[in-house]
Amino acid sequence: MPEGDTVWRAARDLDKALHGRELTRCDIRVPRFATVDFTGRTVKDVVARGKHLLIRVEDEWSIHSHLKMEGLWHVYPKGGKWRRPAFKARCILETGASTVVGFELGFLRVIPQDQEHDAVGYLGPDLLGPDWDPEEALRRLRSDPGRPIGLALLDQRNLAGIGNVYRCELCFLAGEHPLTPVGDVRNLPRMVELAHRLLEVNKDRSTRVTTGSLLRDPLWVYGRTDRGCLRCGTRVVRSEIGDNELEQRVLYHCPHCQPARVPA
Ligand SMILES: [Zn+2]
Repeated sequence: MPEGDTVWRAARDLDKALHGRELTRCDIRVPRFATVDFTGRTVKDVVARGKHLLIRVEDEWSIHSHLKMEGLWHVYPKGGKWRRPAFKARCILETGASTVVGFELGFLRVIPQDQEHDAVGYLGPDLLGPDWDPEEALRRLRSDPGRPIGLALLDQRNLAGIGNVYRCELCFLAGEHPLTPVGDVRNLPRMVELAHRLLEVNKDRSTRVTTGSLLRDPLWVYGRTDRGCLRCGTRVVRSEIGDNELEQRVLYHCPHCQPARVPA
């Protein structure tokens, strides 16, 4: 599932392929923007903002996309064989050397660059951004102390980059039940610091690891309903909360390592 680290890697790879290059093909397969053609224009840069990706094209345009659940970006040498069916392509950009294809993007639109702030300005501090600000992330999280931590971590207005896997694993690592109110979390600064560290260590690799064990068991509780908690073996509970996208509602937690606390 795409989280901030996935998008960070996509932005890095796309920037490598497109930065400063003139587009020789631009094919946007989203009805509203199908007539947009940036052929002949130069790509200024490609950046990630949380889970959003911005491809900035000369003369102040941005191709703004979000992977949602299934989306991904591939970079191929020009003329190279695609690893996904062409009908799933939503955006194709080509330079003299490479082809960049966005498949099954959750959304894609073209906006003037000066409207980027309206598009992504609501996001909280970006865990992988150059201006990561833990204090501001804490301030935003604490502004709603009654909200379950499992929901607050996923809210990109608090801090940007956490998806469902990290949300579940962070609650586990903090020993907190996902429904614990933010105001009752025992060490929120540590949780925020850990979020930053996990995304940082994972941003360069394609397998997401929170346990330190890349080969055998990369995750503590996420998706482990059949195998049990990696630490204690207790049956992992799968539940649902929230009202956002379907996959993001699914929660995993270990009732032994993350017991629900009775309010004092
Ligand atoms: Zn456990």
